[in-house]
Amino acid sequence: MQTAIWWIRRDLRLTDQTALTAALQEAGDVVPLFVIDPALTEAKNASPKRQVFLQQALQSLDGELRQRGSRLILRRGSPAEVLAQVAAESGAAAIYAEADYSPYARRRDAAVAHSLPLKLVGGPSLHHPEAVVKADGTPYTVYTPYMRAWKSQPLPRPDSILPAPSRIPFPALELVSEIGELNLPTDAAQIFPANEAEAQHRLMAFAEGATPRVFQYVDLRNRLDLNGTSQLSPYLRFGMISARQAVVAVQVAEVRATEGLARKSAETWLNELIWREFYMTILYHFPDVLQQSFRADLRQIPWRNDVQEFAAWCEGRTGYPIVDAGMRQLAHTGWMHNRARMIVASFLVKDLLVDWRWGEGFFMEHLLDGDPAANNGGWQWTAGTGTDAAPYFRIFNPVLQGEKFDPAGEYIRQWVPELTNVPDERIHKPWEMTELLQAEVGVKIGRDYPQPVVDHGMARRRTLDVYQMEKMVAVQNRRGRRG
Ligand SMILES: Cc1cc2nc3c(=O)[nH]c(=O)nc-3n(C[C@H](O)[C@H](O)[C@H](O)COP(=O)(O)OP(=O)(O)OC[C@H]3O[C@@H](n4cnc5c(N)ncnc54)[C@H](O)[C@@H]3O)c2cc1C
Repeated sequence: MQTAIWWIRRDLRLTDQTALTAALQEAGDVVPLFVIDPALTEAKNASPKRQVFLQQALQSLDGELRQRGSRLILRRGSPAEVLAQVAAESGAAAIYAEADYSPYARRRDAAVAHSLPLKLVGGPSLHHPEAVVKADGTPYTVYTPYMRAWKSQPLPRPDSILPAPSRIPFPALELVSEIGELNLPTDAAQIFPANEAEAQHRLMAFAEGATPRVFQYVDLRNRLDLNGTSQLSPYLRFGMISARQAVVAVQVAEVRATEGLARKSAETWLNELIWREFYMTILYHFPDVLQQSFRADLRQIPWRNDVQEFAAWCEGRTGYPIVDAGMRQLAHTGWMHNRARMIVASFLVKDLLVDWRWGEGFFMEHLLDGDPAANNGGWQWTAGTGTDAAPYFRIFNPVLQGEKFDPAGEYIRQWVPELTNVPDERIHKPWEMTELLQAEVGVKIGRDYPQPVVDHGMARRRTLDVYQMEKMVAVQNRRGRRG
């Protein structure tokens, strides 16, 4: 009976597990293997938080495998070397893995496939980045036509989601595994418990049931003070739930929706899953976006890059409560609401004129869902330098954003407790409180909570000047080259 290796990467699940299913179909015994790769764990912007989440998820996966007669083999080292070693020890004739599309993953897999029988099955997105392209075969660089083309491709049927296998035969061998050495505690109160059951539970709670939360998505998704989004991103990031299953769940919800707003809400959530695939596709076809702006005319912006202002942003002490709340939510939980991500990113790039790559790096160090494609897409969109980007003159006013999306300041009070007693009408601009009011509510601005690090009106004009100038210079350079 043949043995195969199931090489697990960012697909830490048993449900809808196409690579494992293929391995089980082709071989009698399967060795589930995860390789802790120093090229990733020691990379710039590697995240200790994400490492803990990943390792807890591996412990949980090991438990699930043991209930099915198997176990997880965990090793450290270069994937090509570890795979060759485990193949030799187990006599495995094939390696099955879910495809991964980041530039590093593709290089790594090409190197492995050069010397070992690697078979890639499925992927972290529903559609492969080469499957959704224009009629002439070139990639889309604008979201809306991409989204339409994505939807015109065949979509999975609900009965195509593969159940978790009940038994996973493991070869009768002693294979060394470091999984026992991890021994990480899991905290019952953890906001993002790292296991597949939690991912399944979240998807069900969001998209299934009589009145699923997804039906209110359009109304609530931007509200910082309400729990209006799925909070599934860390689970999608690590493949603890498949993109296929999420798409199927929302399609079923859309069919069940009896009224317009519910249907529109389900459609809007599906569109967010498509943004995720759009950015994967962009990174696949344009890997240089990790180094530079997608737009050539905005590559030389003279950033101010003031290190003290950057530190104030990182630490959530800019003096703009909505910005500080977002940054502190990130520091405490490893996650930030999408509206807050847009606000803090706009503030860093457009108010402080700090290079968007600094913010991108900081997010990668702290986000549980930190993903090179989505993160780069989000930062370049905000900076106005990316595909389909927000126009450069769109600059969020942090006070108005706060008033609109956290009207009573509850999100701020949760993350910036020193402002707890500030009245609603001043919570988004506490520097306007009189000395008397500051004394009454027990917070002195400039001592207990910072003065604004920058004046938004001035910063806005400064940024518009810089971007306009940069665009003019780019046009002149192009003309010069032509002339
Ligand atoms: C500056 C910036 C950086 C970001 N960095 C990341 C990142 O590193 N990883 C990441 O997964 N998302 C990133 N996003 C996108 C978005 O903020 C998160 O996906 C979302 O907040 C996750 O919360 P949720 O699961 O409740 O999302 P929901 O609103 O429930 O959406 C469902 C899923 O769709 C996907 N999604 C939603 N919005 C986007 C989007 N704009 N781009 C790509 N995918 C999306 C996510 O997988 C998400 O879990 C970033 C956005 C910005 C503005």
